[in-house]
Amino acid sequence: MKTLHTVAELRPLLVGERAAGRSVGLVPTMGYLHDGHLSLVRRARADTDVVVASIFVNPLQFGAGEDLDAYPRDLDRDGRLAEAAGVDLLFVPSAEEMFPQPALTTVSVAQVSEPLEGTARPHHFAGVATVVAKLFAIVGPRRAYFGEKDFQQLAVVRRMVRDLSLPVEVVGCPTVRELDGLALSSRNSYLTADEREAAPVVYRALRAGAAAILAGERDAAAVRTLMRQIIEAEPLAQVDYAEVVDADSFRIPDPLAGNLRLLAAVRFGRARLIDNVGVTVPAPTQGG
Ligand code: AMP
Repeated sequence: MKTLHTVAELRPLLVGERAAGRSVGLVPTMGYLHDGHLSLVRRARADTDVVVASIFVNPLQFGAGEDLDAYPRDLDRDGRLAEAAGVDLLFVPSAEEMFPQPALTTVSVAQVSEPLEGTARPHHFAGVATVVAKLFAIVGPRRAYFGEKDFQQLAVVRRMVRDLSLPVEVVGCPTVRELDGLALSSRNSYLTADEREAAPVVYRALRAGAAAILAGERDAAAVRTLMRQIIEAEPLAQVDYAEVVDADSFRIPDPLAGNLRLLAAVRFGRARLIDNVGVTVPAPTQGG
């Protein structure tokens, strides 16, 4: 594995790989790698000839007062894990390398980026879309790998790629969880022992919401209330949102129908954790 810090070093290597007919896969991350990230790398390794992973704690996607400075970093460990999982080229640019001047050009995706995370973190998805577009331009991947863990982010990236006809296939990968259901996240390192013990309540609430829908509940407000009650029964948890939306449009169907996603953001002390699960309402059977 080679680690590169500048666009000028990385780009010619990839131009060469593509010219030789090799496909490039990209796994964008903010580092502090865990098995969720590595599952994307393994998938990229199986699908493509050259696996590029990036580690960049993107300042554009953090709001004022968020955890940009505190975000956990361990580049030595990340390098070892990335190499063992099959990364060929690890791109680790500095903020100055990515944004030598403030970006006057940004990418923003309307509608899907507006509710939920978009409301809680107003400039977040424009920051994500802008840096992902830039990484695509730098790396030129045939495929790029994103986790369903950040389901709204995945939807924003998919929509950006479609709207701008970017020549990249976006591959969504399932959420990797701890045995007790907690979704792996770099931010789990913020949890105290008590908060860590409490945190699986998020996934439990999401699954209870999904089970209610499968059992016939078609009212989004009732599902929302059920999930909130479960989470709020945990004294260390503070609900930011718990909602069920259409998995493509991110609008709330009334009655609930089709391909749905239940999503929640919950604070435990200084950690703000997000998670989601999918559920499909079967189409009503004809006749009868
Ligand atoms: P991050 O470093 O948090 O920006 O995440 C980088 C990529 O890894 C994103 O596409 C995430 O959705 C994905 N990811 C993070 N956590 C998980 C997880 N537990 N399971 C699967 N993918 C994940």
